[in-house]
Amino acid sequence: MPNTLAEARQELALANQIVANEGIIDAFGHVSMRHPDDPRRYLLSRSRAPELVTPDDFIEYDLESQPLRDPGVGQYSERVIHGEIYKARPEVNSVCHHHCPAFMPLLATGTDYMPIFHLGAVGGVRPPFWDQRDEFGDTNMLVVRPEEGASLARALGKHWMVLMMRHGVTVAGTNVRDCVFRSVFSARNAEYQVRAMTVGSNIATLSAGETKLAGQISGKTTGLIRSWEYWSMRVANKTATPATGAKKAAAARVKAKRARTKAKPKRAAKRRR
Ligand SMILES: [Zn+2]
Repeated sequence: MPNTLAEARQELALANQIVANEGIIDAFGHVSMRHPDDPRRYLLSRSRAPELVTPDDFIEYDLESQPLRDPGVGQYSERVIHGEIYKARPEVNSVCHHHCPAFMPLLATGTDYMPIFHLGAVGGVRPPFWDQRDEFGDTNMLVVRPEEGASLARALGKHWMVLMMRHGVTVAGTNVRDCVFRSVFSARNAEYQVRAMTVGSNIATLSAGETKLAGQISGKTTGLIRSWEYWSMRVANKTATPATGAKKAAAARVKAKRARTKAKPKRAAKRRR
């Protein structure tokens, strides 16, 4: 995990690139993190496609989602999603908001998310829906007013994911990597669930107990570290040109190894194969 603000900015930039590279986010959507030195602030990129985000793009916001200083650049309009969740959930340190295509059939029909494989458990047991129309009537569907963000945060409650009707999904995590892990594998699960529903109506979902136990996988095994390393490598390989590819990929491997060694608990090191 990052120790300094500079490392935090690097990790958050990579998180944005990963969720884009894994097909969760396209031109829209964003990943934020609570400020590592001040829990009353958070970091969110200026308005640009997440795949292009760099460590220099982040703006510091207070929990009212106001920038600490005039950034002089365009800002995301839906930043209250992040600020209001950080305000309501002190244990949440990263938020991802996305409009992943895999979820759209569920969001158009109000069909419950069902974990159908072990990693799909990261979405939790019956994550709630939120319909902006219920409280705010006809809107342009963007969550831009503080009261809209607060309403979404209330709907999220103690869950880790809230499904936004006709719009997208918002995922919370205890840190950036946890949030990315939940975002990627819940989207994979949604894709498999919708496919399974086209095959038959008798879907063997995980039980509530299985969902709870399998949902702890990322925190209790090396799965999170392994996934982060894999996704980081895919980003590095994608951005490498043929001339510089091998050099950049080798540098990324060294960097990932250093991060892994730093983050790896001793007991986990013994289990790793
Ligand atoms: Zn949105």
